[in-house]
Amino acid sequence: MENAASRLAAIRNNIARVCKPARREPDDVTLIAVSKTHDAPAIQPLIDAGQRVFGENRVQEAQGKWPALREAHPDIELHLIGQLQSNKAEEAVALFDVIHSLDRPSLLTALAKAMDKAGKRVPCFVQVNIGDEAQKGGCPISELPAFLAAARAADVPLAGLMCIPPADTEAAPFFALLAKLAADHGLEGLSMGMSGDYETAVMLGATHVRVGTALFGARG
Ligand SMILES: *Cc1c(COP(=O)(O)O)cnc(C)c1O
Repeated sequence: MENAASRLAAIRNNIARVCKPARREPDDVTLIAVSKTHDAPAIQPLIDAGQRVFGENRVQEAQGKWPALREAHPDIELHLIGQLQSNKAEEAVALFDVIHSLDRPSLLTALAKAMDKAGKRVPCFVQVNIGDEAQKGGCPISELPAFLAAARAADVPLAGLMCIPPADTEAAPFFALLAKLAADHGLEGLSMGMSGDYETAVMLGATHVRVGTALFGARG
């Protein structure tokens, strides 16, 4: 119990420390505790330590553990950070408060329809394929202007841009590029930075960092 709380405090400290030279306020950075693969007993100590924003990457896994946890703590905010299949759009809209993986026209259509049906607008980050990697999800940079226009036309609220930089290389240039793209398109939110690089991301303007391993330890 002490462990989760002290790791949380250390990460909050690190965020505050890098905010200073970046002339940012720690309150402007949302720490998303990525709880994928971890069960309720592992999550509870973080809730007890005051953490209220959590991220999951699978709809079905989140459906299994979060309804009960949220009943006890209605102020919890749940973010979907993983790839979303269009046929899960209705379930995602029902369960999540924010979606970070809007990345293609078919999913946009499915989410807009699901939001209309549910009478609930869920803010979405548009995931950008920032390293132009064939195997990775995310909207190609060249298609971003048209895709953002389509999302606005479909009345899907845009929270900002999200990226997962290429592995095994310096992340900073990709974070800087995402920040520039967001500014070019008048978007404020920047979902970038994970356990290994959240401090760099905060220095480059991240408004949402997604941290799993550094909070929970390695995933089994
Ligand atoms: C798992 C995951 C994270 C958290 O990664 P860690 O390295 O464990 O902090 C962040 N973002 C996405 C999209 C993920 O799937």
